[in-house]
Amino acid sequence: MALVRSQGVNIGTETVERIDRAIGHANEDHDLGMLYLTRAIALQARGNASAPAAAARNAIPHLVEAGEMQAAAFASAVAAVFVDQMDDPIASMNHAVDALVMLGDAGSSGEQLEIEGVRAALALSGFFMRISAFGLAVDSAARAFESAQVLTGLPLDPVAYSVGYVAAEGAHVAEDDATREKCIAQALMAVEWLETNGVDEVSRTLLATGLLAESRHAAGQSSDDLDLDAAAALYDRTPDDLVAWHRLVRAASAQLRGDAAEAIALFDEAIPGLEASADNHCLVRALRGRAEARAESGDHAGAYADASDLAARTRHWQLSQVGRLAMQLTRRADLERSTNELQRTAERLANDIDRDATTGVNSRRWLDRRLGELADMDAFGSALMCDIDRFKDVNDTYGHHVGDDVLYEFGHILREIAADADIARFGGEEFAMVLHLDDAAAGVDVAEQLRHAVEQHDWSQVAPGLQLTVSCGVAHGHLSNIRALLIAADEALLEAKHRGRNLVRTPLGSASH
Ligand code: GH3
Ligand code: MG
Ligand code: MG
Repeated sequence: MALVRSQGVNIGTETVERIDRAIGHANEDHDLGMLYLTRAIALQARGNASAPAAAARNAIPHLVEAGEMQAAAFASAVAAVFVDQMDDPIASMNHAVDALVMLGDAGSSGEQLEIEGVRAALALSGFFMRISAFGLAVDSAARAFESAQVLTGLPLDPVAYSVGYVAAEGAHVAEDDATREKCIAQALMAVEWLETNGVDEVSRTLLATGLLAESRHAAGQSSDDLDLDAAAALYDRTPDDLVAWHRLVRAASAQLRGDAAEAIALFDEAIPGLEASADNHCLVRALRGRAEARAESGDHAGAYADASDLAARTRHWQLSQVGRLAMQLTRRADLERSTNELQRTAERLANDIDRDATTGVNSRRWLDRRLGELADMDAFGSALMCDIDRFKDVNDTYGHHVGDDVLYEFGHILREIAADADIARFGGEEFAMVLHLDDAAAGVDVAEQLRHAVEQHDWSQVAPGLQLTVSCGVAHGHLSNIRALLIAADEALLEAKHRGRNLVRTPLGSASH
């Protein structure tokens, strides 16, 4: 509705054929996005929602890619409006939420919007209106109007009217005084603007006095002093949906002053127009008003017919509103959840990078970083490299799963033997340790303890009949040479393998076992 009413917002009048030819020649995301968006707008008048919905959806990724976030927001809002008409509340809600996110802060006082952002806010306002989210509808319209006033080349009348219309409707259904007053104040602001700055007579009189009367009616006040009927002379220059709305306002005015016959006549004229423009809020008001007026004038059958029509429509409408509301809440909850999940995933990933999942010890990446810190330490220590003997046989005999279990168990033994050491999986079944010990012999002792522990460990718990040994190389020195110490330890480890495995070796040749 508000999208249709905001048509004056400089929407292109290009033919669809011309747009399609241009799409065929376009390569840049910016051009493609804008063309698809224009196509969506051009197609809206054709009465079928799926074609403009598809065009709007096509526009979104191109506009996002081109960094045109406010235009992408407009495309998303347009998609929300049309997808909603296709009775796909989940998808339409998703598009509306996307549009709000793209516009930045969904509140009323975000940053200034560009033209496309203003259009997005207006289309969103119309969408929120349809789903009876009046607070959001009023905020979006007000934000559009605020920004539109500082932009040049934008006809402001339709924007001002949209603000007033949404606010007046909000005032009619407001459940508390504070909301009603806020809506009325907003509507009166639009009235004042239209009276002073309206581009033509339709704006300055028909729209301005109509909105003023609406605000009065919402507050239970008479509008008799406003010459609403005079504006009827402008009907042939006014869009049909606005004429239908204005007739409704006049009918309500007649009803308030007790002229039931006049009210019924005006409701009769207004209702087909309101039905045609799919303005549910106004239509409900019109049917309720006519039922009352008919009852008052003794037409009880007519009143009953209106009341049943109203009941059927509102029931259907309420059901879909409840469905939409539930969807809105679910979608919000999903958004919250996915944000939290993203945060948790990011934290877990950061941890994962530092920790090796198979063995439970630190990762090679962690070691690379840690070596830099160690090299800055003014201290001595032992570098220890160890490698499980004949580990390939474990995989070959028991399978890869058992191999993994062995690696985890081995990591556990390492952590128990040298809780204070820096321990990392160097690769495969090879581990690096840095022992913070002043004494070279103490490092060899730790390696011996490890060798012994692995040999004595009850591996049959991992797989029946499994036995394992480990070979180690140890090198002692100043930590400023930690990289060289690790290389020396690795060479000693190779020597241990050559000499028959299940051995601890140092670069100097000292061996044990
Ligand atoms: P050596 O005594 O000379 O060290 O013999 P080895 O069989 O232990 O050494 P080799 O390097 O020939 O084989 C190591 C095997 O470790 C080969 C590889 O498939 C296996 N391996 C490496 N990473 C993993 C892992 O994460 N899980 C499992 N199950 N196996 C692994
Ligand atoms: Mg090995
Ligand atoms: Mg190996």
